Amino acid sequence: MNLEQIVKNNLAKTKEGRVANYIPALGKVEPNQLGIAIYDLKENDIKQVGDSQVRFAIESISKIITFLYAVKQLGMDYVTQRVGARQTGFPFNSILNLEIEGKHHPLNPFVNAGAIEVTSLLKAVNNMQPFEQLIRFAREICHDSQITLSTEIFESEERTGDMDRSLAYYLKAKKMLKADVPTSLKVYFKQCSMMVTAEDLANLGAVLANDGIKPWDNERLISSEAATYTKSLMMTTGLYNESGTYSAIIGIPTKSGVGGGLMSAATGKYGIGIFSPPLDDAGNSIAGLSALNELGRELKVDLFRY
Ligand code: GLN
Repeated sequence: MNLEQIVKNNLAKTKEGRVANYIPALGKVEPNQLGIAIYDLKENDIKQVGDSQVRFAIESISKIITFLYAVKQLGMDYVTQRVGARQTGFPFNSILNLEIEGKHHPLNPFVNAGAIEVTSLLKAVNNMQPFEQLIRFAREICHDSQITLSTEIFESEERTGDMDRSLAYYLKAKKMLKADVPTSLKVYFKQCSMMVTAEDLANLGAVLANDGIKPWDNERLISSEAATYTKSLMMTTGLYNESGTYSAIIGIPTKSGVGGGLMSAATGKYGIGIFSPPLDDAGNSIAGLSALNELGRELKVDLFRY
């Protein structure tokens, strides 16, 4: 497999998308970038090309980290009683599904309402506040001690996050939110503003692909049940309202973020991290998905091949 060639074939696709600018600090990112990292579980080795070491905001991919951490701390039952597992068909920050369905919990942990809900479940442990716990867990599951918070992006999210604020107040009004609104949102905006690389995302994907065991030291970090549940959700809701389309085309459980990241987990085989900032209309990395499609075909790793 020639990873350099995949970068070459897909870099021009960046021109077909647009860097997220509804969060102003994200709008400053150089668009013409594409990086790929693949953790090969059989060889226990990582290969990377292009802009795989560039740091960018994790954004919605952090929802996976928070969900896994909440499950680890509070148990699967506790968390899944408070957030569902259904695809929504609406954009990630839509308030419609909360109201129309009249459910007692947000539909899934990967839409913003669900992620804010999960964040609100976290409590201080041994004097460590929820975000401190989360960033430590992120460093562990991504195997990168250098993950830090971008205060510039965090402040930009806080200044412009009125959609998220409205979701949080709605959750509060319906008595779903477990912490107060400002605290829940602060943790949520901070988790979105953690700076990662494509290599970090390949490592995260590798833990999920390896049934919850970190392949670099063979220690279990999350339960097998949590890894399976998360990959299933990635398949059905990982790419916002285009999840169904891409499940059919690409067939690998994948989660995207508006910072241009994609994280995929091919069970038993590979963890894949991709970074390319310009997005399609739904908010997914446009060159990244095209590269992932090509990569998936070369590696023959979609869920339905054997
Ligand atoms: N911080 C972003 C938001 O709340 C995350 C969304 C995303 O990556 N889809 O809108």
